[in-house]
Amino acid sequence: MTRALAAVPDLGERSGWERLLLESVRLEFRVEVLVAAQGSPLLGSGCAVAGCTGYAYHRPWGRGTGRALCSMHGQEWRRQGSPEIDAWVASAKPPRALRPLGACAVSGCRRSAWSWGRCRAHRLRREGTSEVGDGFCRVDGCKFPTMPERSLCDTHQDRYRARNDIKPLDLETYLRLVRAERERAAGAYVLRPVSGTPRLELQYLLQHEADSGRQVNPRRFNDLVGLVAGERVPSVLSREVEEWHRVAETDSRRYAALGALLAYAHERLCELRDGAADPWAPDRWRMARLPLGTEYAHDKTRSLNFAAIRRGWLRDLLKRWARHRLQSGTMAPQGVSHALWSFKELERFCDLSNRELADAAQLSRRLLEDFLDHVARLPLAKNSQHGMLRHVKVVLDDVERHGWVRLQRDARYFRDELPSQSHALPRFIDETVMRQLESEEALARIGDETTITAVIVLMETGLRSQDALLLEADPIVVLADGSPVLRFVNHKRRREAAIPISGRLLARIRYQQQRNAQAFPNGSPWLLPAIGGRNGQGQQPYSYGTLLTRLTKWLAGLELRDAQGAPVTVTPHQFRHTLGTRMINEDIPLEVIRRMLDHYAGDPVKRRERRRRCDADFRRRGVDRRAF
Ligand SMILES: [Zn+2]
Ligand SMILES: [Zn+2]
Ligand SMILES: [Zn+2]
Repeated sequence: MTRALAAVPDLGERSGWERLLLESVRLEFRVEVLVAAQGSPLLGSGCAVAGCTGYAYHRPWGRGTGRALCSMHGQEWRRQGSPEIDAWVASAKPPRALRPLGACAVSGCRRSAWSWGRCRAHRLRREGTSEVGDGFCRVDGCKFPTMPERSLCDTHQDRYRARNDIKPLDLETYLRLVRAERERAAGAYVLRPVSGTPRLELQYLLQHEADSGRQVNPRRFNDLVGLVAGERVPSVLSREVEEWHRVAETDSRRYAALGALLAYAHERLCELRDGAADPWAPDRWRMARLPLGTEYAHDKTRSLNFAAIRRGWLRDLLKRWARHRLQSGTMAPQGVSHALWSFKELERFCDLSNRELADAAQLSRRLLEDFLDHVARLPLAKNSQHGMLRHVKVVLDDVERHGWVRLQRDARYFRDELPSQSHALPRFIDETVMRQLESEEALARIGDETTITAVIVLMETGLRSQDALLLEADPIVVLADGSPVLRFVNHKRRREAAIPISGRLLARIRYQQQRNAQAFPNGSPWLLPAIGGRNGQGQQPYSYGTLLTRLTKWLAGLELRDAQGAPVTVTPHQFRHTLGTRMINEDIPLEVIRRMLDHYAGDPVKRRERRRRCDADFRRRGVDRRAF
């Protein structure tokens, strides 16, 4: 191939990508300027002022309520000294740029108002007909006829004159300014600066975010469009993420924070491109995109990044292994993510000790033994060291069993050579501590209501936090005898379950439901919707990460002490152990406790066997924390 030929872009491939985009982007998104309809998740909860399509920005009701004002109305409200919000919203008007123009008050006159509610002609002479010019006012969307021998209607001509007096500008500039003001006020996503493939790519990003119920700030999006347009690339994908980060950073300050959004867009586009043929093909798997059903919906892992493994053969092998494990339902995404972490450490170890590890044949028993020593020296807890090596062992055993690649015969670990797991202390929470936690005063210090509800649910029911955070919008069933029961999905056992609850918890759940209805008028599928972020419409559930962060902060602020006065730390899972212990102390039959915590389920034969073993275990030890 000659040089000149090599420089010609591959038209066939590029049009293939463009075709895929055209197939993927729906017509409603294939526009130059997109004004999201009120109620679109793109705008979050949307501005509370009637008739305003602004992006939810200021939150005078507080974070997490889902209700907000757009930046224009928010600024106006603050400027007026933050008056009482409900009355203010009721009286607030949509932005001026979006308000319809007034028509001339003289009956039969078609012109718009110049001043005092009349067109210019009727302002000067009170009677008679008033002439109109040819055609309509040139301002975008204006339906009034022009003034005679002018290009604008009365109102717009007056506004143009007023602006021209301040700073001279030609008509075309004025028209562009009016259009920009309208678009800003409407919270529009403006794709005008880009065309062709990049435009389709950015339209796809908007559609993707709308479909997954996320907000997109129009101002940030429009800056992104400007950044992409400025680079004049044939496609967003013609640059690597790192290059885009550099562009975003070296460009003017306005674009400084756009690197992350651009990287996000790049990733979604790569998924579309690579995932169209095979969702397992990309080096980064987004769990939501994999054909796994809802089995792992509760798992905290959102994505698995195989790109972190630099050796191609190892990356491919791990992808094959992970796919097998996930599809057979024998390992959750979080487990796979831990395995990736282990192999990243293995690669780091090879780099440190100058081992090539260029193919499977170089993975020797000697190397594994040295890695074992390396892990033992890492500043990790014994259990983490054990976990790290165990994952390597699991992968190697699977590879061996399925014969995916040829490994050296002795390239494996034996169970008894891994560092032993330490036996943790009992994990239930001391009664002295529980009493401090359960007090109304302590709960109030959590701050936001959704987290308070989550904590009460965890403490009273002993649900696993993943199950509690995924409770549906109305999880209460009232039995024939009038007692309330909480319905939930036991994600670990993959079955539905129910437990009786107290009147206090019932009241709390009803209160939470009222708050949800206020915050999300269209309804949220969750009892505990995510707080703030891009969840204006309540489509995202509360995340485990947020719960952990807030709980940690809360507990640190409480300065909890046990009966001996020593500082204590608590994790959400401990509420589960604690409830079990408490019930045992209250002489509730073990069978009932077990059913309440829904621990043993599945195959009835196995269940009976487990029950027998467990009862024997209980009898032998008195209380055994591991039953929960
Ligand atoms: Zn507004
Ligand atoms: Zn008139
Ligand atoms: Zn006009």
